[in-house]
Amino acid sequence: NLAPLKRALLSVSDKTGLIELGQALAARGVDLVSTGGTAKALRDAGLSVRDVSELTGFPEMMDGRVKTLHPMVHGGLLALRDDAGHTAAMSDHGIEAIDLLVVNLYPFEATVARGAGYDETIENIDIGGPAMIRAAAKNHGFVSVVTDPEDYAALLAELDANAGQTTLHFRQTLAQTAYARTGAYDAAVSTWMAGAIGQDTPRRRVFAGTLAQGLRYGENPHQSAAFYTDGSNRAGVATATQLQGKELSYNNINDTDAAFELVSEFDPANGSACAIIKHANPCGVALGTSLKDAYQRAFDCDRTSAFGGIIALNQPLDRATAEEIVKIFTEVVIAPGADDDAIEVFATKKNLRLLITDGLADPAADITSVRQVAGGFLVQDKDNGRVDDLKTATKLAPSEAQLADMRFAWTVAKHVKSNAIVYVKDGATVGVGAGQMSRLDSALIAAKKAERMAEALGLPEPLTKGSVVASDAFFPFADGLMEAAGAGAVAVIQPGGSMRDDEVIAAADEAGLAMVFTGMRHFKH
Ligand code: 5GP
Repeated sequence: NLAPLKRALLSVSDKTGLIELGQALAARGVDLVSTGGTAKALRDAGLSVRDVSELTGFPEMMDGRVKTLHPMVHGGLLALRDDAGHTAAMSDHGIEAIDLLVVNLYPFEATVARGAGYDETIENIDIGGPAMIRAAAKNHGFVSVVTDPEDYAALLAELDANAGQTTLHFRQTLAQTAYARTGAYDAAVSTWMAGAIGQDTPRRRVFAGTLAQGLRYGENPHQSAAFYTDGSNRAGVATATQLQGKELSYNNINDTDAAFELVSEFDPANGSACAIIKHANPCGVALGTSLKDAYQRAFDCDRTSAFGGIIALNQPLDRATAEEIVKIFTEVVIAPGADDDAIEVFATKKNLRLLITDGLADPAADITSVRQVAGGFLVQDKDNGRVDDLKTATKLAPSEAQLADMRFAWTVAKHVKSNAIVYVKDGATVGVGAGQMSRLDSALIAAKKAERMAEALGLPEPLTKGSVVASDAFFPFADGLMEAAGAGAVAVIQPGGSMRDDEVIAAADEAGLAMVFTGMRHFKH
């Protein structure tokens, strides 16, 4: 199963680690062949390397479109070394075996990311690279193919462990990675192309990812799991730096994502905000005069549920907030920074995971979300809907303060699983009803929790008294609305648009509520 390594072809756009690799291969007696830019880089470093054009007898042509697409290259990659016919063809045509292919592709994804025009993007579709990668990967019985500078060290270690040869298992692993790379590459091309030609629902589409970490298990211990990144580099749990704490679990990652997406709705320039998440739903969200204040007010919405929660902050963690947070058990804290004082406070809680992001997520970003169903997957635009114009539906118009609370409640409701009912007072949630099969039950549960919190905090009445309430979708009947009014809500924000809007509006008028319609709903299932 061991394959010798006498000749390597190197052709890389990303020249990271190239010289060191070239030197290490040369030191092991490997003969180097390379394309234009790569050969120049190796030569400049004093290495002896042959040009591919010397091998093929053809110059690189058509602005590099045709460099390695030649039988002298592909024959050398694809020939079965143990097949008499193949080896005869090699000697008949003077084809030299290539035992190692090191290729990384034209930076197509980066070209798209920087917003290059159509023609330039097309020019950045690598053709010869993927052809060679696929050929070498197919012939992994004899050939090693490295497509990522991160694998250079592993290659050299493999050679050293096997007296300059490679094992079949190693080559198989490289080949699997290689096909994922060419697959992802063409996925990126196809996805870009759908957008560039204005096709929202292309007939075929592909998604790709890179393993970020294996996870101990999935949602439950009997499920295996792993975390993959999509290369988009969005601020969030996928790109955050973990400063301390145990490894993130599957549920941690899912909940931290929900927390961070929610808190990112609140521009730090407008003040501090905190979201506490349990099982992907917020159990408290608040604005505050300081980060500590925002945390405390979010915590006071539902102290029972906040235990073991995930906390997201919209500003860098400071000492005062950190000291408050460590008073109870919290799974994860995610924030766009943390000062040294805060880090010192957290150091006393070794298990608390602290994630630092590079800024906040862009809530208006144009992103595709994907969900699996049996036999397929559903694709949609991420819900980044925003409502500017609110239409007053009742005789009574809301006050400015109520309007501000309504907008806050509406933003939070977008991040609560349907049916979502969110009570808010003074920029803090005071009751969240999530994920119920009836809107009435969500209104009831949220009010019930507010009553329990009032008891725990020793308040004379639940904080829902005098609150505003948001409903993620219209009230189909007046009963849910009346439940909210019974809990003390005085103003309502909801999409409107029910067949029975008239009934609902009449009930609101009778109860003396102010109600506005958004004309947009925020289902989240
Ligand atoms: P270099 O910097 O060595 O001139 O070019 C390296 C890049 O060229 C690599 O990214 C490699 O994948 C790509 N490449 C190699 N052969 C061909 C080819 O025949 N056609 C195209 N379009 N790209 C190639």
